[in-house]
Order: sequence, then structure tokens, then C-alpha cells
Amino acid sequence: MNIPDLPPATLRLRIDTAALADNWRALDKLSGNARAGAAVKADGYGLGIDHVMPALLGAGARQFFVAHWSEVPGVLAHTDGGSIAVLHGVGNAQEAAFAQATGVLPIINSLYQAQVWLEAGGGPCHLMVDTGINRLGVEPCKLGDPAIRQLQVDTLLSHLASADEDTEQNRAQLHAFREASQQVQPKALSLANSAGIALGADYHFDLTRPGLALYGGIPRETLCDAVQQVAYVEAAVLQVRELGAGDKVGYNAVFAAARPMRAATVSLGYADGILRSWGAEGAMQHDGRRLPIIGRVSMDMIILDCTDTDLSEGDFCNLSYTLPQASRISGLSQYELLTLLGNRFERVS
Ligand SMILES: *Cc1c(COP(=O)(O)O)cnc(C)c1O
Repeated sequence: MNIPDLPPATLRLRIDTAALADNWRALDKLSGNARAGAAVKADGYGLGIDHVMPALLGAGARQFFVAHWSEVPGVLAHTDGGSIAVLHGVGNAQEAAFAQATGVLPIINSLYQAQVWLEAGGGPCHLMVDTGINRLGVEPCKLGDPAIRQLQVDTLLSHLASADEDTEQNRAQLHAFREASQQVQPKALSLANSAGIALGADYHFDLTRPGLALYGGIPRETLCDAVQQVAYVEAAVLQVRELGAGDKVGYNAVFAAARPMRAATVSLGYADGILRSWGAEGAMQHDGRRLPIIGRVSMDMIILDCTDTDLSEGDFCNLSYTLPQASRISGLSQYELLTLLGNRFERVS
């Protein structure tokens, strides 16, 4: 069937690409002598790779990090393979062949991956050393292994576990990373994620890898002035109704009207990433007025208290949404808030 053009979506994610570009420039500047790259995994932290890549490239970013090989084509549509790195590395011959055919650099995370890469013919790659997160990366004591020695390492990386906290672990990882860098002869060194950039010059090395803060997340308070909100959620009112005292609202009737009120049902739900944990304290806004969420969040709808407003069908409401504040309200991390944003949004930038 020849499907006609879709009617306008009732759910929009407005992406402020100028703010995104400003955030990259600010983080690049805060990285001092190091250059900032950009983590664009998980579809640009949920914002949409085709929206974030042009803004990041325009701002000057040249090194991009994804987690999966399946994420590579979306980035290759905007830049060349040599500027893309895959965090999960190569676990088999098919992945290695794909890396070689595209010129994308795998991040080798283990002796096993080093062997896979070498058996496939090798070539330039990055190397992740695990300095204490115990997640992904070669143990420092194995860096002398012949398989590691044979690698053509472009950048030696490690990843901080607790850069968003003031804890001894940061210094310990920094120390372990410096030691590890004596054992390998990479062209460049890279340790800091967004929060790591705020830990200061010791942590910057040659390349930083911000993700969250590019997209408006604030993992440490010192980044507050440098980082702007990028994503804005807007959803249309589907129905408005009058409630009498005692009328119950939504699944399991967890809300009952104490007095006559107006309620609006809005086209946004947990399938879009606004989880039920938003229900207790969350709100949307219209014309500067706060509209509290009442009752349970459903899969495709939430219900708002719009008493004493002239809100009507088709009006768009905004989710009150800066990431640190939304995180407090919902109990979700700023990372979860972004990456949960679903694919029913019309993403506009
Ligand atoms: C996701 C990721 C980043 C980006 O981290 P943020 O905390 O989002 O800035 C950097 N490095 C690695 C290895 C990652 O997995």
C-alpha cells in the first residue's frame, strides 16, 4: 500500500542543537589541552543520531564513541570510519571483518578480543585498560601479554567508576592509568567522561569523552554553568473532562478528586520513557502554569490536573524538564531519563 504522509505527531522531542553545540565547545574548553570527543552511543543518548551528529561535527567534534557495531552505520552517515570507536570491541571474526571493511576502530577490551583482532589481520585499534571499574578492559597485569604487545594501539583508554563523586577511587584510578600508560606505547591517552572533565587537568590527558553533559546532564555541580538543557518534551492533550468530588482517575484508582476539577489526558506515557515513578511529583506546563500529574502513568497516556485553566484538546503541554530536577522528581538517573526517550517522538531540531 502507498502510505500517505503521516499527520503531525502528538508527541515531540525538541532538540536545541545550538545548546548541544555550545555544550560540546564548553566541554572542549574545560578539557584544557585535551581535545573533547563525543559519546554518541544509544542513538545519541536517546536524542537521535541524525540530530546530534551535525551539531557535534559543526561544533568541532572529531572522535565519536558508540557501544555496538549496529550503531556504526548511523554515525557513518555523517563521518568517516576512522573517527568512530566501538566500545564493546570485537568478540568474533564477523565483527572484526566489519571493523576492517568500515575503517572503524574497535576498542580492544581483553586478551580474547586482542586475539580475535590479530587473527583477523589486526590494524589500528584502541585499547581499554580496566583501572578499577571491573567492567570492561584489560587488567593492568596483562598488558605485557604478547597479544597486547602486537596491537597497533592508537589511544589507550580507561573509564572512571565514580567521577561524579568525591572519592579516593578517582585518584586511585588516575594513578593506575598512569602506570598502565608506561607499559603500552599508544599515540594518545584518554580517561575522562563528562564528570571526569570536571575533576581537573590531571584527568584530561589527550582526549576526553563527554556524553551525558553534551546532552544537558549535569553529573557534577561545577558543570552547572557550562551545560545547557538540550531536550524538551512536548505532548498534545487528547481529551479534557470534568471530574466530580470522589471520581477516581487512572489504573487502580490511586487518585480520587477531593473536589470538582478538570483533568486532561495527554499523549505521553511510560512507553515513551516517562516511567510511572514520575507520577508522584511530576508535572507538565502550559502557558506557564503547572499541571500536576494525577493517577498512574499509563503506557501511552498521562492525566494532568488542569483545574482553572482553559486547556483544550490539541494544545501542547511541556514536561517540566531540566535533567537534574527531573532526576530528583522521578528517581531515575539523568542517563536513564535521556536514553529511555522512546521512538514515538517526532524529534525536531
Ligand atoms: C558512555 C561512556 C562515556 C561517556 O560518559 P558520560 O558519563 O556520559 O560522559 C565515556 N567513556 C566510556 C567508556 C563510556 O562507556
